[in-house]
Formats: sequence, structure tokens, C-alpha cells
Amino acid sequence: MKLLEERILQEGIVLGQDILKVDGFINHQIDIGLMEELGKDMAEHFRAQGITKVFTIESSGIAPALFTAKYLNVPMVILKKQVSKNLRTEVWQTEVASYTKDVSYELTLAKNYISDMDHILIVDDFLANGEAATGAVRLIRKAHATVAGVGVLIEKVFQPGRSKLESQGIQVYAQASIRAFENGQVIF
Ligand code: 5GP
Repeated sequence: MKLLEERILQEGIVLGQDILKVDGFINHQIDIGLMEELGKDMAEHFRAQGITKVFTIESSGIAPALFTAKYLNVPMVILKKQVSKNLRTEVWQTEVASYTKDVSYELTLAKNYISDMDHILIVDDFLANGEAATGAVRLIRKAHATVAGVGVLIEKVFQPGRSKLESQGIQVYAQASIRAFENGQVIF
């Protein structure tokens, strides 16, 4: 999407070889108007698929997932990285390696927010190695629900996330696809 690409070019900061910092409008401060446009576009892309719920992974996927769910008129569910003591219910869990934080966590979903009738769209901010998204897919499949696709704001195509997902038969939609970082510049 032009809107997102332009914003990345204006405000994105390339860190090292493979990290894009977008704290000013996605990861720390959030541009709500931009998130709504991205959510609307995401919903339009997947509208024909009969989606029953939008899932996201806390915390940076929440904003775009919220607007995607709003425009699909379905509930949004947040997959937790840390299990709260308040979550006194049965859960599905799977271990995921975090790309930016170099640790792993138990992705967790209360069993009462998924059923085998659900057809689920996963929305996240970035697709890099695909660990977060494939973890979400594993959880959904453990619950015998189905995956409609994975929608991300930003995909780094030089990392293997898309191929990991597509090799499992999962449709991927990225609103901005970054081909490379060259001398600190983003190349789409
Ligand atoms: P993956 O599991 O696909 O390797 O990484 C996905 C997660 O790592 C995203 O949810 C995002 O939070 C984080 N991430 C991966 N690459 C980047 C990046 O270049 N910039 C930022 N800000 N986050 C990233």
C-alpha cells in the first residue's frame, strides 16, 4: 500500500542489517488513522473468505487487528505471550522464539475463545522469520480450527517467513514488502 510505504520512507529507521524501527507510528506511538486505513484494506483483502475471528499476537499486532476485525465485523482475540494469573481456564499453548528479543515464550490462548468451527485470520505488524505467525497457526490447528490467512503490515522478503507459511498452504498478504535494506535505506 502506497500510504504505508510512504510513511516507512519518511519515518522508518533501519537498524543494522535487518531491523526496521517504526516506533513513531506502529510500535510505540500509534497513528490511529493509519491503522484504520490498513485494517480496512486488510478486511477488504480477506472479505470473501468467511472469517469468523481475527487473531493477533500481543502487542504490536493489536492496533491493525482491531480495525481489521471491526471492518470484518468479527471478534478479535489477542494471543498472549505471558500467562496472567487471572487466566484461570484451560489453555492451548505453543513455544515461539522471539525475533527481536532473542528469547522464547509460550504463546497462549484460552480454549473458550476458539472452536473447531472457526476460520481465523492472523494479523501482525511484521513478518520476518515467521516464528510468531507459524506459532499462531500451530495453536489454531491444535484447536481443530482453520486458518484463512496471515496478514501483515510489513514483510521483509529477504527473511523466510512467507515461504514457511506458504509451504504449509497458508495465504500471506503483506501491505508493504521490503526487498532489502541498502546503506540504511529501505528498498521495496
Ligand atoms: P517473526 O516471528 O516473523 O520472525 O517476527 C515477527 C515479530 O518480530 C513481529 O511480531 C515483530 O514484533 C517483530 N519484528 C520482526 N522484525 C521486525 C523489524 O524489522 N522491526 C520491528 N519493529 N519488529 C520486528
